[in-house]
Amino acid sequence: MFIQRLCIIGVGLIGGSLARALRQAKAVGEIVGAGRREARLRKALELGVIDRYETALPIAVADADVVLVAVPLGAMGEVFAAIADYLPAQCVLTDVGSAKASVVSEVERVFGRAPANFVPGHPIAGTEQSGVEASFAELFQHRRVILTPLLETAAGAHDLIREMWATAGAEVVDMEVRHHDEVLAATSHLPHILAYTLVDTLARLDDRAEIFRYAAGGFRDFTRIASSDPQMWHDICLANRGPLLEMIEQFSRDLAGLAEAIGRGEGDAIMAVFQRAKHARDSLYLD
Ligand code: NAP
Repeated sequence: MFIQRLCIIGVGLIGGSLARALRQAKAVGEIVGAGRREARLRKALELGVIDRYETALPIAVADADVVLVAVPLGAMGEVFAAIADYLPAQCVLTDVGSAKASVVSEVERVFGRAPANFVPGHPIAGTEQSGVEASFAELFQHRRVILTPLLETAAGAHDLIREMWATAGAEVVDMEVRHHDEVLAATSHLPHILAYTLVDTLARLDDRAEIFRYAAGGFRDFTRIASSDPQMWHDICLANRGPLLEMIEQFSRDLAGLAEAIGRGEGDAIMAVFQRAKHARDSLYLD
């Protein structure tokens, strides 16, 4: 797999890390970076993540073989609208958005219907950092990347994007759009909501200084992801509203049930929840 010219719109943690990985694998000719702020693109150039940059998106995508859109979910629509009339005919368009139905619907809104060369994707990899300075070539090593090809998606475009991520070290799987959004609402979006809410609740208590002084490893493990970019998570909540609300409702019911059991002193019910959870957690392979 070799991509002659790759245009990355949004050279941040994800876009920058993919650029680094493909360059390290010698799988790309030229990498053109694009975004709003020139100072950020200049930084990406200085770090050797991209070969050149453009702030005008129509110029950035000229002669590109692959265009990767790695901007926050709330900016996807405006980016697609800016490039729609300028994408080269054979160019493959892909994205890394953390929710897929919203990206697909933005593409359909802008293009009329999803182009055959559009391959929606989502790397299940990241850190709580953002920006190109936080990017690193190994981010996708042994991580999963989910592609959600559509009925319209051409086999050649799908194969190219699958190979691109495999070259970056990822295990690539396919999933249906709606299923992706439900699975990620449960495994990623709900945990972020819980971490943000827990820290916010404690941070608003009168004796917060005392509470945080005694916060130990468990608190740190559970709340690390509350340091993630608020704008990104704002966008994800709005983009994956339906599946996320279903998970929040289910979780709220279970939490209320546990609170009742605690209130009534029902040790067996409490123990049952903890034992089921421990068994489930212990049988997972998580690194
Ligand atoms: P990031 O580090 O903040 O990078 C986002 C980039 O997009 C920045 O370079 C930003 O530069 C650019 N950008 C923002 N708005 C733009 C606009 N309107 N037009 C053009 N460029 C714009 O974010 P990230 O963590 O890489 O996330 C990018 C995407 O990956 C998001 O859709 C996110 O859902 C997805 N994702 C993130 C993770 C994760 O853990 N971080 C994991 C999987 C998928 P300027 O502000 O200078 O324009």
